[in-house]
Amino acid sequence: MSKIVVIGGGPAGMFAAYELSKNGQEVTLVEAGFDVEERKKAIAQEDSAGQNYISGMGGSGTFSDGKLNLHPLIGGDLMEFVPRSRADELISYIDSIFTRHGVSQKAEISPDARKLEIRAMKEGLKYIPIRQKHIGSDVLPSVVVSINKEMESFGLEVLIKTAATDLIIKNGKVTGVKIKKGTKESILPADYVIIAPGRAGSQWLLDLAKKKGIGFRYGPLDIGVRVEVPDEVMEDTTKISWDPKFHIRTKKYDDFVRTFCTNPSGFVITENYGKFVSVNGHSMKNKTSHNTNFAFLVRINLTQPVENTTQYGRSICMLATTIGGGKAIVQRLGDLKAGHRSTWERINKSYVEPTNKDVTPGDIAMAMPARIVEDLVEGLDQLAKVILGVNDQSTLLYAPEVKFKSIRLDITKQLETVQVKNLFTAGDGAGVSGGIIPAAATGLITAREILKRCK
Ligand SMILES: Cc1cc2nc3c(=O)[nH]c(=O)nc-3n(C[C@H](O)[C@H](O)[C@H](O)COP(=O)(O)OP(=O)(O)OC[C@H]3O[C@@H](n4cnc5c(N)ncnc54)[C@H](O)[C@@H]3O)c2cc1C
Repeated sequence: MSKIVVIGGGPAGMFAAYELSKNGQEVTLVEAGFDVEERKKAIAQEDSAGQNYISGMGGSGTFSDGKLNLHPLIGGDLMEFVPRSRADELISYIDSIFTRHGVSQKAEISPDARKLEIRAMKEGLKYIPIRQKHIGSDVLPSVVVSINKEMESFGLEVLIKTAATDLIIKNGKVTGVKIKKGTKESILPADYVIIAPGRAGSQWLLDLAKKKGIGFRYGPLDIGVRVEVPDEVMEDTTKISWDPKFHIRTKKYDDFVRTFCTNPSGFVITENYGKFVSVNGHSMKNKTSHNTNFAFLVRINLTQPVENTTQYGRSICMLATTIGGGKAIVQRLGDLKAGHRSTWERINKSYVEPTNKDVTPGDIAMAMPARIVEDLVEGLDQLAKVILGVNDQSTLLYAPEVKFKSIRLDITKQLETVQVKNLFTAGDGAGVSGGIIPAAATGLITAREILKRCK
């Protein structure tokens, strides 16, 4: 029997390990963080803003909000790897596993979605109708615990608090993984390896690729702000879809701007990346605010002489964190347009009460490149043609919000690296997805390819 090592216990690694172990393969999953029960306990004890999720089994966002976007073009493009019919089948399969483990909500497209699509089109925006489920950060941990238990019943071995540190490669083929638990180092022999380390592991993957001579390229950067408005402004739209996806092309620069990760009655949170902070948002099933927040992001691709979008994004975030005195910045859209900073006094005068007060009222124009700021302001004005009031002067903008797209290794359609045989990559860390469903789907693609070869 073949030995398979999966690196990373996020959706990509979990679903790959699920499929392989369900089909009788000998699989070891290596996860650097905590186990699923420990994470569940830690989250239950956290503050209501749900900050500082401890990394571990379940991965990054699986322990946060749990919006499942059941569409092959959201959070990546699955059709890069499989035909549409197979992408749809993979999504249904993932959905069925979540459903069996407690995600009961039905996901239908609202009949009003088509009307919204037409209205948006007439205003020069693109709205993408998709089937969605929202699980909620207070419910999702139990779902992950339940899936985990099923995987273990298939015989999956999980090594927690164990980091993969290196690969053993012989004659162009992977043969093992070096692992480290505490100070103890050892080697796991492997016939196949799936690397799914998420965004947190993307730097490690980059270093590994350089060291092992595996080709790679940088992915695009999505950077911008988190917008916060009263629920009433968004409710006509969020009634149609919980997390509405709008795509905008700005007139001046012809840049791509999009809405992402909408949280009706949700909360804005700050994430600490060590040298800088970035904002995010989430919502819960059982605890609500009066505001809706969403990310509003500009896509940046870099060509010669600098291609490293991660470095560029980090520089912007560091500048924003510097000007925010170590915290994220909040500014009223009206203040940004008027060319002056926000103060608590000005913010307190407006109708939107911030759900994140651990921020510095300031001036986003001092923190971000002019092109990005112009794209954001122009993009919000365009969006307001469909969502009336979203560009009101009291609208709050939190900065920076950043989504780093990891490097993409040179891979085949089966997600196997071109330079090293039997070495596969999946999920966000490998730059092939940006969400729970597509990460899980890429994990399944690698698993099914390995199963085919094992037969
Ligand atoms: C706050 C937040 C909210 C989100 N909300 C949503 C949402 O509502 N809907 C949605 O679709 N997506 C959401 N996302 C994105 C989603 O979580 C990710 O797209 C998804 O988790 C990616 O899965 P992954 O398996 O590729 O990586 P991850 O989930 O990041 O998992 C990677 C795992 O690998 C481990 N690891 C890293 N390096 C190593 C190593 N060297 N050795 C061993 N283990 C390692 C990490 O500890 C981690 O557990 C959210 C993300 C965040 C941060």
